[in-house]
Amino acid sequence: MSLSILLVDDSKIVRKVIAKELPIIFRDQELKLTEATNGEEALTYLFANNYDLVFLDLTMPVKTGYEVLEALKEKGVRANIIVLTADIQPDAEKIVRELGAIGYIKKERPFNTNPLMKILQDTGML
Ligand SMILES: [Mg+2]
Repeated sequence: MSLSILLVDDSKIVRKVIAKELPIIFRDQELKLTEATNGEEALTYLFANNYDLVFLDLTMPVKTGYEVLEALKEKGVRANIIVLTADIQPDAEKIVRELGAIGYIKKERPFNTNPLMKILQDTGML
């Protein structure tokens, strides 16, 4: 079975770190990974394709992660979106959950896979 994942982040380093962890997390599955570097690009992919899982940064140029979630909600597009952010806005998690995100992870250095594993297990994706 192949799992299609969209990874959205304007930081090349973050994309590289996550892309490296994914085969370790989903070790029995074939992965089809697509990367987007801003919210506008992400929406183009999301309106044209179905993804099993989407990692979404919040702070990005052109369109933010919040705008991506709003646009998807407005168009009625459902996706398993996990927000991955360094945003310290206190109610960010509440906002993104109301906009339909299934998970919210704070970016840490080094990247800690445990919160992500927990979300994937809780939502039956692992
Ligand atoms: Mg960013």
